Amino acid sequence: MKEDIKSLTYDQLNTAVLDFSHESFRAKQIYQWLHKYGCKSFAEMTNISKSIRAKLSDKYYISSCEIEEKYVSKMDSTVKYLFKLSDGEYIESVVMKYKYGYTICVSSQVGCKMGCTFCASAIAGFSRNLTAGEIESQIHCAQSDLGIRISNIVMMGIGEPLDNFDNVISFLKNVNHENGLNISMRNITVSTCGIVPRIYDLMGYNFQLTLTVSLHAPNDEIRDSTMPVNHRYPIAEVIRACREYEKQTHRRVSFEYTLIRGVNDSEENAAKLADILSDFNCHVNLIPVNDVSEHSNVKSTKENMIKFCNVLKCKSINVTIRRTLGADINASCGQLRHQKQRGDVFENCCKNG
Ligand code: SAH
Repeated sequence: MKEDIKSLTYDQLNTAVLDFSHESFRAKQIYQWLHKYGCKSFAEMTNISKSIRAKLSDKYYISSCEIEEKYVSKMDSTVKYLFKLSDGEYIESVVMKYKYGYTICVSSQVGCKMGCTFCASAIAGFSRNLTAGEIESQIHCAQSDLGIRISNIVMMGIGEPLDNFDNVISFLKNVNHENGLNISMRNITVSTCGIVPRIYDLMGYNFQLTLTVSLHAPNDEIRDSTMPVNHRYPIAEVIRACREYEKQTHRRVSFEYTLIRGVNDSEENAAKLADILSDFNCHVNLIPVNDVSEHSNVKSTKENMIKFCNVLKCKSINVTIRRTLGADINASCGQLRHQKQRGDVFENCCKNG
């Protein structure tokens, strides 16, 4: 079994390359080919001798992904990709343009085990973790297709990043590395449904990234019914871990709160949320739930969203209502992979650009 060389961190690659060459700059060159330039084969590494390349390819492969489908929103030029992996599995990524540059939303797993009732990712089941190289390949592939440089990453695609912890850590080290994509940790967001022990593990690295926690409920009763992970790690433990995270890393934690009509969007729910977040320097992002055809969730009305938001504001909670991008291309993750498995097509947007 060959190993994915693109999943090795800089230090691991340095050690590995010593088996093939004692010239210390070789590892740096190989690392740049893999991470800065996103090369897909050893043959592209033209400044590395053929004999070293041959030895490398005996032991390693280079993970990559291919564009299977591409959708460009007519509303805001958001691009959504369905990528095919080397074993035929599908994952999704979305590229969004903001004033400050391009942001990519990447997947961390093929499917998801978490089973949140409003989310499309779980419907098609869980297949496997992505390697660190496969997570990064989504960025290389999108950059070369669009001819742009991506400056921001959000780990909000398919999967639960903290359920694929070690690979996600290697991915973060690699995209942040000066000989790789060199993306600042401050431009990276990791989103989790709240796997408490892994939140403590993550704070141990003291990365200056933004941790976002998908809260979606102000109490255990509602959260138990929409997010099965809450049975294992109830709200109080999640919030305690987040408060500790902020203390250790000095990074403000964000909370995602998807508003579902009649489920979690009352003013009492907002007051309770303000209560559990009181005296905590955090940020709450309110999101109207996206329709997922298999689920019966209904978006909150605009009026309810504003009321909810105002209750939080009155209690001095930092809160924003998220702008929705790519609404016509099912830009929320998990939907494309599932539809691909079912053989659906979209009508309302521009397929393949
Ligand atoms: N597993 C991670 C990251 C993936 S989901 C997590 O749970 O945070 C990224 C975000 O989209 C999460 O906040 C998730 O709860 C939210 N989400 C999932 N389905 C949604 C839907 N139908 N409408 C709105 N947000 C949704």
